[in-house]
Amino acid sequence: MNDSEALVRTLKRAATVRCPTDALIEGRSVAALDGARFTNSAPGDGRSLGDVVSGSAADIDRAVVSARAAFEDGRWRDQTAKAKKAVLHAFADILTAHADELALLESLDTGKPIGDAEAVDIPLAINTTRYYAEALDKIYGEVAPPSPTRLSYAVHEPLGVIGAIVPWNFPLHMAMWKVAPALAMGNSVVLKPAEQSPMTAIRMAELALDAGLPTGVLNVVPGTGDAAGQALARHMDVDMIAFTGSGQVGRLLMRYSGESNLKRVSLELGGKSPQIVFPDCPDLDAAAQAAAWAIFYNQGQVCTAASRLLVHRDIKSDFVQRVVEVAKTIVPGDPLDPATRFGAMISEAQMNVALGYIATAEREGAQRMLGGSRVRQESGGYYVEPTIFDGVATTATLAREEVFGPVLGIIEFGDDEEAYAIANDTVYGLAAGVWTANLNRAHAAARRLKAGLVWVNGWDACDITMPFGGFKQSGFGRDRSLHALAKYADLKAVSFTLGAA
Ligand code: NAP
Ligand code: MG
Repeated sequence: MNDSEALVRTLKRAATVRCPTDALIEGRSVAALDGARFTNSAPGDGRSLGDVVSGSAADIDRAVVSARAAFEDGRWRDQTAKAKKAVLHAFADILTAHADELALLESLDTGKPIGDAEAVDIPLAINTTRYYAEALDKIYGEVAPPSPTRLSYAVHEPLGVIGAIVPWNFPLHMAMWKVAPALAMGNSVVLKPAEQSPMTAIRMAELALDAGLPTGVLNVVPGTGDAAGQALARHMDVDMIAFTGSGQVGRLLMRYSGESNLKRVSLELGGKSPQIVFPDCPDLDAAAQAAAWAIFYNQGQVCTAASRLLVHRDIKSDFVQRVVEVAKTIVPGDPLDPATRFGAMISEAQMNVALGYIATAEREGAQRMLGGSRVRQESGGYYVEPTIFDGVATTATLAREEVFGPVLGIIEFGDDEEAYAIANDTVYGLAAGVWTANLNRAHAAARRLKAGLVWVNGWDACDITMPFGGFKQSGFGRDRSLHALAKYADLKAVSFTLGAA
């Protein structure tokens, strides 16, 4: 199939695919109790994707009641590890069988390139599901040192009802980072997807039922953050909120917890991640490729986006030119075209945020090296070209605030100490990267950089096997890896007093 045939085929599928719009509560597709809906539109061209249920506090309550009943009667929690594992594997199998459909829904809903949804979002979501399916029968408790008069052990127990609140940048992938380990530990879940991207969350939960997940164990309630999200986070019978999103909402979630039942909160928040290129960088072309894609992938809407590029003054003009050359090849296009590698931003509002930061950077005196404008306006979608600013002051807005869009700021440094000082001069601490051929310098950087993720000679070079999460105001609690399981469990200490035999 050539490129234009592939495009025609995708457009046909997009015209006929069923766009999920209802909540999924107690195993049934339902409308909101008050009938409220909002229009979900595709950021790529503005087409309507249907009127989606806008859940209220009453809908959240029915979902929590359903999840609680499922938890308390043990229909999932009390299944054997072998049986739970089989269901989660069947779930991954069904997601795999529907991967094309899920990728299409994800691309339509978010404006991300269909090729990215097919190659990255959906396979990673499925891989996450399989990883926790495989992990769940390998979780052991511990036995205390033996004593003739006492037998003591500690065991992980599921928390109960988990509320998951996720963003729109990787909708299904972020949902599965929460849902899969929460289910693996035996919990029930109520998932609130972002308003902008509800479709794959709903479809995934329908498919979980087909895989044999018992009714009520996984409920999905779409709606606004202020109504559905807040109701979930304030609910007295929710044991934990697992969140990915902005710091602003993260703060609210902690407040809601304090004002309700002290539910646990885990926060994966934003970043202003630095990538440092030392003059002994082993491969400037590879680093330039990585630097460009580390900010422009997913239209810059990535929490780990390397939005600050710190380059040593000896190589700066050469290196900046290389990054600009790579970025020139990243051209905004129709998200449904399989040849597209850079799509639309999620919404008009997010596009305007990015354009606002571009205007501020100009005003504050940075030099624009590339981009800066809205493009493809005639499509009806929201596109901003890859944009690069050089000469960004460390005090400038672009060096300090998260844009969550395709805008790169370049900062020059003179020596290692200055590089670390600039890199750490932020309230965030999600990811950081360093390019060097010097092993000692690489280890020093790994130690000195205050971030939950540090990458040497590569960006985003890790996977489900490694913990993911931030230091400082980038949040706390970890997704991915076996570490993620602990936050969905309580640790119970049991002691038997032993009498004479
Ligand atoms: P956001 O506004 O924080 O939204 C995230 C989720 O929270 C959405 O489902 C949203 O619902 C919900 N929400 C909003 N207000 C709420 C409230 N008062 N109570 C409960 N829930 C509420 O973030 P965003 O703008 O969608 O996403 C971008 C941000 O997320 C960026 O700052 C980015 O850095 C961060 N992010 C972090 C990670 C990470 O892993 N650390 C990953 C991706 C994104 P509605 O959308 O329906 O309003
Ligand atoms: Mg949408």
